Amino acid sequence: MADKRDYYEVLGVDKSASKEDIKKAYRKLAVKYHPDRNPGNKEAEEKFKEATEAYEVLSDDQKRPIYDQYGHAGLDGMGGGGFSGGFGGSHAFHDFSDLFGGMGGGFSSIFENFFGGGGGTRSRSDSNQGASLRYDLSISFKDAVYGTKAEIQYRRHETCTVCKGSGCAAGGSKKTCPTCGGMGQVRRSTGFFSVQSTCPTCRGEGTTIDKPCSKCHGTGTESVLKKMTLTIPAGVDDGKRLVLRGMGDAGTNGGPAGDLIVILDVGVHEYFERNGQDLYCAVPITFAQAALGAKLQITTLDERKIDFLIPAGTENGKLLRVKNEGVPYTNSSSKGDLYLKIIVQVPTRMNSEQKKLMERFAEIENATTSPKCVKLSALR
Ligand SMILES: [Zn+2]
Ligand SMILES: [Zn+2]
Repeated sequence: MADKRDYYEVLGVDKSASKEDIKKAYRKLAVKYHPDRNPGNKEAEEKFKEATEAYEVLSDDQKRPIYDQYGHAGLDGMGGGGFSGGFGGSHAFHDFSDLFGGMGGGFSSIFENFFGGGGGTRSRSDSNQGASLRYDLSISFKDAVYGTKAEIQYRRHETCTVCKGSGCAAGGSKKTCPTCGGMGQVRRSTGFFSVQSTCPTCRGEGTTIDKPCSKCHGTGTESVLKKMTLTIPAGVDDGKRLVLRGMGDAGTNGGPAGDLIVILDVGVHEYFERNGQDLYCAVPITFAQAALGAKLQITTLDERKIDFLIPAGTENGKLLRVKNEGVPYTNSSSKGDLYLKIIVQVPTRMNSEQKKLMERFAEIENATTSPKCVKLSALR
């Protein structure tokens, strides 16, 4: 890099300058050209980098003699001669507390403003979207299947009606927080390290209000109890999220409101269970009904009586389908099906007549006492 300026020229000192003079010169340039003070100014950024690189070399007892003797070329390959733009690798930045240490009471705020917050500029007056709120709503199994209306009430932050969100009383105004200088964060240096924490004066806002609004106490929002009637569509399932756009907390500084997210907690039914749009239940029938077939009646979820036929010779565990008696699809007229799982019950207590008949049945059946076994998996 032949066009590199002379380091002494960059800092505006002569070749015989003392370490103290070099430090002073750099401090002046660093404050003037720091990127945080010149956002978006490429020229200032270049000047800042150039000054930092010059200071890094001229403040170093090993590098300065080499530079004096060989110029820029002498430092090539030494590592650290070129300023990479990163703060961590540059020893110049380790010296900042030393560098700015003589500036008295103003030191900490200048240091934190210019070098805190990771070097980026942080505007505290940016608009922020309001928080989204969660509402857990319990509904019955039946209401989830057929849909319902639910009254809900919840608290949300709305823009203060008195100050219109500014947080200031009449004649009041927002001022940059004197503690953190508007960053919202304060930094305490302990040697090479620094710890960042939320500013205790402004609680991270970056601004303080001289005359806060009496209604919202300067927050710009107020808590309002909101009531509304929610329409729960037919066919919703447990855990379903209904998102009501803009019904959450109000935004600040003109930002959009958050959402209200209603999460459905669907209750259980006495005998129906659900898998997607299909309903399931178990139907116990007698041994004779299974063998001979039967016409049975069951009560549907919406309390209608429907007939269904058990064919003669229905085996235990058989799944019978009743079409279109399941859960309606949301935004559609079609429905799932109802499945009836047949449970054949073996009589455990019989009166004498039943027993006599059963004995007669066995005689006729002439069942063998050495049955032909089959694989268990063959039954499935
Ligand atoms: Zn207010
Ligand atoms: Zn503050």
